Amino acid sequence: MSKRDYYKVLDVARTATEAEIKKAYRRLAMKYHPDRNPNDAEAEEKFKEAKEAYEVLTDAQKRAIYDQHGHDGLAARGGGGGGFSASDAFSDIFGDVFGDIFGGGRRGGRQQVFRGADLRYDLELDLEQAVFGHSADIEFTTLAECEPCSGSGAAPGSKPVTCDTCNGAGQVRMQQGFFAVQQTCPRCKGRGQIVSQPCDSCLGQGRIRQKKNLNVKVPQGVDNGDRIRLTGEGEAGRNGGPPGDLYVEIRVREHPIFERDGSHLSCEVPVSFTTATLGGTVEVPTLGGNVELKVPSETQSGRVFRLREKGVKPVRGGPTGDLFCRVVVETPVNLTEEQKELLRAFDASMQNSRRSHSPRESTWLDGVKRFFDTIRN
Ligand SMILES: [Zn+2]
Ligand SMILES: [Zn+2]
Repeated sequence: MSKRDYYKVLDVARTATEAEIKKAYRRLAMKYHPDRNPNDAEAEEKFKEAKEAYEVLTDAQKRAIYDQHGHDGLAARGGGGGGFSASDAFSDIFGDVFGDIFGGGRRGGRQQVFRGADLRYDLELDLEQAVFGHSADIEFTTLAECEPCSGSGAAPGSKPVTCDTCNGAGQVRMQQGFFAVQQTCPRCKGRGQIVSQPCDSCLGQGRIRQKKNLNVKVPQGVDNGDRIRLTGEGEAGRNGGPPGDLYVEIRVREHPIFERDGSHLSCEVPVSFTTATLGGTVEVPTLGGNVELKVPSETQSGRVFRLREKGVKPVRGGPTGDLFCRVVVETPVNLTEEQKELLRAFDASMQNSRRSHSPRESTWLDGVKRFFDTIRN
């Protein structure tokens, strides 16, 4: 019987990536799996054919030989493309692909793999760093793969042995009344393997706690609670499982001058009572440096001036925010006797004036008068 082309078997392009090949195999294996097609010789053939193609095409060396010389090349090399027995269909590679579907090593002969835990790192930033972006060097403690044993937990030169309680399945069946229940193997804790000669560095754990340094590029415009995900920088996985991710969560310190509300900033601007009365300019701080603000005459305390686009450029896009400056008119302190005399003369002049000089007081007095009128009536 002549063999079909491996790429045709899996229905993938000759340029397919390993992930694409794996996906294609998974789809076929699900369809033709002997458990799903009992006593179906044709399905079994298809299953074996797909598995063979998968094994060759995911092995870089075998794939290269096959690409150059076809099936004959592999046969000449005396491996890879050779025959497969039925039991082979359930061997290690199977658990690898189906681990997450069938729940780990239930199939037997394959231990469970565990993804490493995600980690969180709280990164404190000044407002300026959050607004303009920052390059932060962080150090944190994580569980990394042990180098001497490459994560196996077994002393270099030795090998972990298959757990004889679960026969490597990582799970055991327990009879409870009428029901058989699957449980994680208590002996190997689901690993399917026992380390008889533990590695000295990690004491058989396969992972060791160690400090790790990373540089985190914080984009401009981040805000409190924003998270930056660093894929694969979390704890190492176990039994060949993938590592977790590292989430860097942003904390922005309080700023002595500015308050932030989304993309807008606000601050208070003290203005002397003469400038507020006669008008003038004051220096206003912005994150990009000081700017001059024109204060018109007769400016009241509490008035808010809006400086457009002096706020924050949001990290997720959108318009740059504004800076809101709230005027606080200051009562002068530390006056000399001469200055006080001038103010008394000024006050006398105000008293004798026929004009109203206190806009807020006059409306306030009007309000008080109306209030008493309503009580009387
Ligand atoms: Zn076990
Ligand atoms: Zn080790």
